[in-house]
Amino acid sequence: MNVKDCIVGIDLGTTNSEVAAFVDGQPQVLGPDPSKMLASCVGISPTGEMLIGDAARNQHLIYPDRTIRSVKRKMGSDEVFTLDGKTFSPPEISALILRELVQWAQEALQCPVQKAVITVPAYFSDAQRQATREAGELAGLEVVRILNEPTAASLAYGCNDPSQRTVMVYDLGGGTFDVSIVSIEGDVTEVLASHGNNQLGGDDFDQLLLDRLLETFQKEHHIDLKDRQPSVYSRLRWAAEEAKKRLSSETHVRIREEALVSEKGKPLHLDIEIGRSDFEEMIRALVDSTLESVFQALDDAGKRADELDVILLVGGSTRMPLIRDMLEERVGATVRQDVHPDLCVALGAGLLASRLQGHDVDRVLVDISPYSFGPSYLGVQAGRQYRHCYHPIIKRNTPLPITRTDRYFTAGPYQKRVEIEIFQGEDPDALKNLLVGKFNVEGLTPVAEENEVLCRMSLDLDGILKVEAVEKRTGLSKHITINDAIKTKSPEEMARARARLEQLYPAHAGEDAAEYDTIEAQFEESKESPTPLDPQLTARIREAESLLDRSRALLDGMHDDDKEEIIDLHERIQEAIVAQEQETLCSAINELKELLFFIEGK
Ligand code: AMP
Repeated sequence: MNVKDCIVGIDLGTTNSEVAAFVDGQPQVLGPDPSKMLASCVGISPTGEMLIGDAARNQHLIYPDRTIRSVKRKMGSDEVFTLDGKTFSPPEISALILRELVQWAQEALQCPVQKAVITVPAYFSDAQRQATREAGELAGLEVVRILNEPTAASLAYGCNDPSQRTVMVYDLGGGTFDVSIVSIEGDVTEVLASHGNNQLGGDDFDQLLLDRLLETFQKEHHIDLKDRQPSVYSRLRWAAEEAKKRLSSETHVRIREEALVSEKGKPLHLDIEIGRSDFEEMIRALVDSTLESVFQALDDAGKRADELDVILLVGGSTRMPLIRDMLEERVGATVRQDVHPDLCVALGAGLLASRLQGHDVDRVLVDISPYSFGPSYLGVQAGRQYRHCYHPIIKRNTPLPITRTDRYFTAGPYQKRVEIEIFQGEDPDALKNLLVGKFNVEGLTPVAEENEVLCRMSLDLDGILKVEAVEKRTGLSKHITINDAIKTKSPEEMARARARLEQLYPAHAGEDAAEYDTIEAQFEESKESPTPLDPQLTARIREAESLLDRSRALLDGMHDDDKEEIIDLHERIQEAIVAQEQETLCSAINELKELLFFIEGK
C-alpha cells in the first residue's frame, strides 16, 4: 500500500473511541483489544505515567482528580483541565486519545497513518468541529474530512441493505444525542435533516441513578456522600453505570457497595435493589425529550413517520429496551440494530476513508448543514429600527459544500468601518441565536450614499464556516478577523501546542515511513499489554477501593511505622490496579487486610 494514502476513519466518542480502515476488501474496526474500543479517558498516574484508555478509566476509580473522562462534552469550550500540575485544553486531551488510536491502526495495518476522517455529532457547532479538527492536527494527522456521526452510521448500515430508502438514524451515546433522516437512492446517501441535543446521553442516565443511590444512602445513614472523598463518588458512579447496563438485560439489579465510608470505625454499606421499570421512570423525561427532535427532523425533511422504511439504532445507550419500545410505539417504523451499535459509526467513517483512499466502495455521500448561519443587520422589526435583525444566508439542511452571498448596506453616510457579527440559528432576532464569530471590515470608501457590502459565506463538507466581506464599489475583499466562538489557531500556534504535547508526552507514532522499523517491535510489545477488565478483576478493584478508604480514615491516628506501611501498600495497590495485575493486587489486598485487622484491634 502506498503509505502516504493510508486513511483511517475515527469515531472520537464521549465514552469510547474506535478506528477503522480498509482491510481485506472491506472496512474493519482495528485494535489489539477484542472489543476494539478505547475508553476515551486520559490520566496521569501518581508516578507521572501517562495513561490512555482502560488504564486511565480504571485509575478514575481511585484518582478521579488525576483522570479526565467525557472530554468530548467540553470540545469547543474554553475550559482547561489540570493534570499533575499541567494544564490541557480539550483538543489536547482528545489528541492524546487520537494518537493512541493511530498507533492501534499502524500496528494493525503495518503502515504509517497520517490522514483521517473523524466523526462528530451532526449537531456539533462550528467551534466544536474546529476543536475536533485541531485535536486531529495536534495528534499529527491531516484531517481529510469531518463527518457527521449519523451519516457515518447510515453508510455502515446502507452497505448491507440497499432496499431501504428513507431511514432514520437514532444515535444515543454516552454524551450526545442525534437523529437524522437519511435518503438512500442507489449509490447516493443523502442526509435530509438532522436534529439533536449535544448535551444528552448515557452520562445523564448514570447521574440520575447515582442521585438515587446518594439519596438512599443519605436516608439510611444521614451522610451526604457528595461531601466525602472524590473516590467514593466515582466508585458510586461506576456502580450506577454498571447497574444501568445490566438493567438493559435484567428486570431487577441489586447494587451492593461494601464499606463505602466508615463512621466511628464502623464500615457503612450501600445495599439497594432497583427494578427496570423504576429506572425507566427516572429517565423517562429525558428519553421523551428525544422524541421532540425525532419529529422536528421528520418535519424538516418533509417526511411523515409512515414514510420511514426503517429506524437504525446507533450508540451504546440504544441498548436500553425503553428506546426501542418508545420508537416502535410512537414513531411506528421497524427498528434495526443489526450493525454493532458501538462500532457502526467507526465502520461508516472507515468506509468513507476507503472511498477517499480510492478503493471501490459503493456509496456516495451527500451531507447537509445542521444549522442556519447568517450575519445580523440593521433592519426593521415590529415596526421599529432594530440593529440585531437576522436572516440566514446558509439555511439549515442545505447540502454541502455550499457558498452563498447576500447584500448589505452601510447604516450611515461616510461610514468607513462595519462590524459584522455571524450567528448560528433560526430566530429573526439575532440576539436569540448563537454568536459564532465577528470581524471588522476597515477602510470602506467614505461615500454620501449607502455603500453596498457583499457577505459571502462558505460551509465546506467538514462543516467549517468561512466568511468574507467585499465592498461592491471597489470589488476589493477586505481583511477580516474572526474572534470569539470560532477559535481557529494559527499554524504557528498549532505547531507550538503540538511541540508542547510532544515534549510532555512523546508520541510513539512516527511521522515518516523510516520509523516503521520499530512498529513490528511495538506490535510484539502490545501483545503483552494488559487485557481489559474482567469481572474478577473488577471485584478485586472494588474490594481494594473499600480497603483503601477504610485505611485512609484511620491514617490520622496511626503510629508512624504503620502509616508508612499503609502508604507503601496503597502505592502497590494503585500500581497493580493501573497495570491490571490481578495477582499482585490480591497479595497487596491480603497484606492490607491483615494490617488493618491488626491496627483496628489495637
Ligand atoms: P457510545 O458513546 O456510543 O460509546 O455509548 C456509550 C454509552 O452507552 C455509555 O453511557 C454507556 O453506559 C452506554 N451503554 C453501553 N452499554 C449499555 C447497555 N447495555 N445498556 C445501557 N447503556 C449502555
